[in-house]
Amino acid sequence: MKKITIAIDGFSSTGKSTIAKQLANKLHYVYVDSGAMYRAVTLYAMQQGFISKNVFNFDKLISDLPKINLIFKFNSALGFAEMYLNGMNVENEIRSLEVSKLVSKVAEISEVRRKLVEQQQQMGIHKGVVMDGRDIGTVVFPNAELKLFINASAEKRAQRRFEELIKRGDKVTFDEIFKNVQYRDHIDSTREDSPLIIADDAIEIDNSDMTLEEQFNNIYKITLDKINEVS
Ligand code: C5P
Repeated sequence: MKKITIAIDGFSSTGKSTIAKQLANKLHYVYVDSGAMYRAVTLYAMQQGFISKNVFNFDKLISDLPKINLIFKFNSALGFAEMYLNGMNVENEIRSLEVSKLVSKVAEISEVRRKLVEQQQQMGIHKGVVMDGRDIGTVVFPNAELKLFINASAEKRAQRRFEELIKRGDKVTFDEIFKNVQYRDHIDSTREDSPLIIADDAIEIDNSDMTLEEQFNNIYKITLDKINEVS
């Protein structure tokens, strides 16, 4: 069967990554979490003191971009690839609320986007890839055979994210997470460079009231239909 490119976009915390990972495993495709790359660049900028709550030294970050090396390494015990920033596993750190609070500002910078989009396009060059993010179907792979746009209510998304962070022991409140989800939705969909918009040919799925299993079965069927159609 022909290998295709699958682009999954949507607002933050819609569960895109979970679906994308499951789909990639089932199809034996490569899964790429493009948000992890924006998060890793943000973590780098935080570590260097280029950005914090009150500091935004974007020029320094831009001139340091060539020093930022991002790779995904597959962890067979976990069943997915983890993010490495300059040789260090940062998979856990990049998921913190501190990074979430700053990442959308970093993702507005065109120079950052250019670097990451180029790397993402390289990763998908042989097809057989499931990539999730905000601009995958519009900018990274405008010719992807299958484009999905996942959505859910902001409350549902914040609740899921809150539960995830509590489970791993982070000290956060629901209110903080809810505000962060709304804040990122706003910046991500109103930025000048590659805003989050629904590609004309994307299939929209609202998973507010779906179980993970229902959602997966639905998406898997759509995917097989598409693969058959193009094969
Ligand atoms: O997907 P995730 O929520 O981890 O992404 C973190 C942030 O990275 C998003 O809120 C967005 O600002 C940025 N992002 C982006 N383009 C992508 C993926 C993520 O701008 N393709």
